[in-house]
Amino acid sequence: MASENTMNEQNASTGAGKAAAGSDRATATGEVAAAHEIFRILHQTYPDARCALTFHDPFELLVATVLSAQTTDKGVNKVTPILFDHYPDAAALGAASLPEVEQIIRPTGFFHNKATAIVGIGQALTENFHGVVPREIDQLTSLPGVGRKTAQVVRGHAFGIPGVTTDTHVLRVSKRLGFTSSTKPLTVERDVSALFDESTWTLLSDTLIFHGRARCHAKKAACGACPVAGLCPSFGIGPTDPDEAERLVRSP
Ligand code: SF4
Repeated sequence: MASENTMNEQNASTGAGKAAAGSDRATATGEVAAAHEIFRILHQTYPDARCALTFHDPFELLVATVLSAQTTDKGVNKVTPILFDHYPDAAALGAASLPEVEQIIRPTGFFHNKATAIVGIGQALTENFHGVVPREIDQLTSLPGVGRKTAQVVRGHAFGIPGVTTDTHVLRVSKRLGFTSSTKPLTVERDVSALFDESTWTLLSDTLIFHGRARCHAKKAACGACPVAGLCPSFGIGPTDPDEAERLVRSP
């Protein structure tokens, strides 16, 4: 049996191979065009898509993003003014008493783990980065409780460095819309990045998050009230009846 490489080489040297390559290119071009049209429509639908966490500098956004796990941005925005009033910078947070921090952030849930992480972040920033939040992914992900997703949020919104944020909504919605066939964060990030211009990556992520919160829900997607229904390969995984779907629509 010919190896895959050998077969590819043979195809490439024949008319059939050229036609197939042309067809692949046409498919790829069509996919990119559809993806761009989907983004255009979603951006029109959610013109205010943005990071909803309140922050004044990279340090505050980093801490707020860690606190936002498994809770709402609104809930985080209620506790961060008190937190940053007590601990305005990395050195202060790194020297904080864990029980006192836990008490302040308790409403955000998982408060023991989160308090341990953000006090650890304060210490690591102070010890390793002169109290300044770094910009590089590997430096950010060296901090306690900071994964690639959090790093991309901070880079995109505090430093203006474009990036695809693979949070739960982006992973789910990207796959449903056909931007990727994977749900693995690194693969999704690579596939989605390849479809769109770098300058749009952060806005695209925010827009997909808004769409995931408002309509393309994990459990019951509001397909019948979705502005990109006509372009979505997953149309029909949720109710398609307009009235029923409309009742599922939430504020993002
Ligand atoms: S049609 Fe349904 S699955 Fe597709 S993006 Fe809209 S809500 Fe999500």
